[in-house]
Amino acid sequence: MAKAVETQKKTGAKKAKKPVAVKKKRASKKEPGSLMRYKCRICGYVYSPLRGEPHNGIPAGTPFEDLPDTYLCPVCGFEGKGKIGKWGFEEWRPTRYICSMCDYIYDEKRGEPHRGIKAGTKFEDLPEDYVCPVCATDPKIVLRYGNVLKQGFSPLYE
Ligand code: FE
Repeated sequence: MAKAVETQKKTGAKKAKKPVAVKKKRASKKEPGSLMRYKCRICGYVYSPLRGEPHNGIPAGTPFEDLPDTYLCPVCGFEGKGKIGKWGFEEWRPTRYICSMCDYIYDEKRGEPHRGIKAGTKFEDLPEDYVCPVCATDPKIVLRYGNVLKQGFSPLYE
């Protein structure tokens, strides 16, 4: 009996440790593809997997690839342009990002040449120490919140 209890304890301890590491790896591997946004070529509506369409029964976190074949663009339907299915969508990535603090917009087409960031520089390629150029000039914001970094920006969907 004593031996059985011991082995149980041992395997129990192993089980508790392993799954945590496996879960973390899977989550980070899965992200890039499944988070891809898709844009309706007809009306410009952007399907975002992060947002989903909870009002249409599509929970947040649903990749575009996993949408049912019966999926229709929710905007085209409203505007009377007919039914646009998944075939009418193309991969889309945002090119403009807005500062959540001051509404400054970083536009990839424009870049920030005066700061040495060439036109066409993708947001993800900005240096990790990139700070919002407008917030940086406002001592009130900097003192209270520190510099607004890339994480303080969100993509624009228009
Ligand atoms: Fe800002």
